[in-house]
Amino acid sequence: MHPETLALHHSDFKDKNAAAVVPPLYLSTTYERDENYELPQGYLYTRAGNPNRHQLEQALAALEGGSEAMAFASGQAATMTLLQCLKAGDHVLIPDDAYYGTPALLQELFLLWGLTFTKVDTTDLAAIKEAIRPETQLIWLETPSNPLLKVSDLTAVSKLAREHGLLSVCDNTWATPVLQRPLDLGCDVVMHSTTKYLGGHSDVLGGALVFKQKSEMSERARQIQTLGGAVPSPFDCWLVARGIKTLAVRIRQQSANAQRLAEFLENHAAIERVHYPGLTSHPGHKVAQRQMILSGGMLSVQVRGGKEEALAFVKKLNLFTVATSLGGVESLIEHRASTEGPDTLTPQNLLRVSVGLEHADDLMADLDQALAGM
Ligand SMILES: *Cc1c(COP(=O)(O)O)cnc(C)c1O
Repeated sequence: MHPETLALHHSDFKDKNAAAVVPPLYLSTTYERDENYELPQGYLYTRAGNPNRHQLEQALAALEGGSEAMAFASGQAATMTLLQCLKAGDHVLIPDDAYYGTPALLQELFLLWGLTFTKVDTTDLAAIKEAIRPETQLIWLETPSNPLLKVSDLTAVSKLAREHGLLSVCDNTWATPVLQRPLDLGCDVVMHSTTKYLGGHSDVLGGALVFKQKSEMSERARQIQTLGGAVPSPFDCWLVARGIKTLAVRIRQQSANAQRLAEFLENHAAIERVHYPGLTSHPGHKVAQRQMILSGGMLSVQVRGGKEEALAFVKKLNLFTVATSLGGVESLIEHRASTEGPDTLTPQNLLRVSVGLEHADDLMADLDQALAGM
């Protein structure tokens, strides 16, 4: 089945009490045993499992084509759980351009516990090969990447990982399973911040891991989730599950809008550079065309000038809310270097745009008026 259909028909859940079409919210933290001291539905205590979380996990597994999915309280909790499956002395490769929280977790937390890492340009196979050490266990991928929209070849990198006995993990937050399915391309695990496109309405925090195969590692991740307790609330799960129902139409429209905005901005005299894989000028365009159905709703632009010019442009916009995060129905724009802090390598003239569901003509007119005279 296609993602549009899977998003609506992934679960065998039936409401036996009221025949409700929409699943009810199960707030109970504990579940009653029957006369044989068994748990009739398998639920014991909500940290270990909850019907709303179970439904969400079924949706995530179906959409990504995995056999095991786990929902977490945030994207960072999902990343953290996967890294906690490794041990002291292990080594991880991560992209040189990635969501800033991923290297921050490794640097600020896991280094103290003996897990080491190397940043590498994951668009360059030779560079990855060179960075692999005997103790390397895992290659982390994020494509398109944040905030430069670099495109890594999931088929080629996951093949290289397999040849070296390494696990390949893809943060699929930006592409979503509607546009890109890393497990089909050879990756072992998909990670999501469901806070973004899957939730889709900027009103719930969540994360996920989806495993291609049930394995020692997936069981370990489940154990860490249950013991560690970084679980989403039933209502968080309910909201993400609701968001998933409209994911396909949202991301398709957001991609179409982003494509139009990227083409418009690329030809504007006040813009130095546009980073969007849907542009033929983008270095990852060919790979993106191969592994993505559309190019996604995220783009970054570098304005002519520096931070001052970038912020002056942002100030004149009316339809783009100046805020961090992405993947909601409203368009957002952000000066990424300010959010990432003083150590950032992100260019000071770069603005990251999460393109929403407004009409593309209106968004373009707003960009045009804000760029006038720059
Ligand atoms: C937001 C984001 C994360 C972190 O997820 P949270 O839900 O904020 O914890 C990880 N990766 C990417 C690509 C993101 O955009």
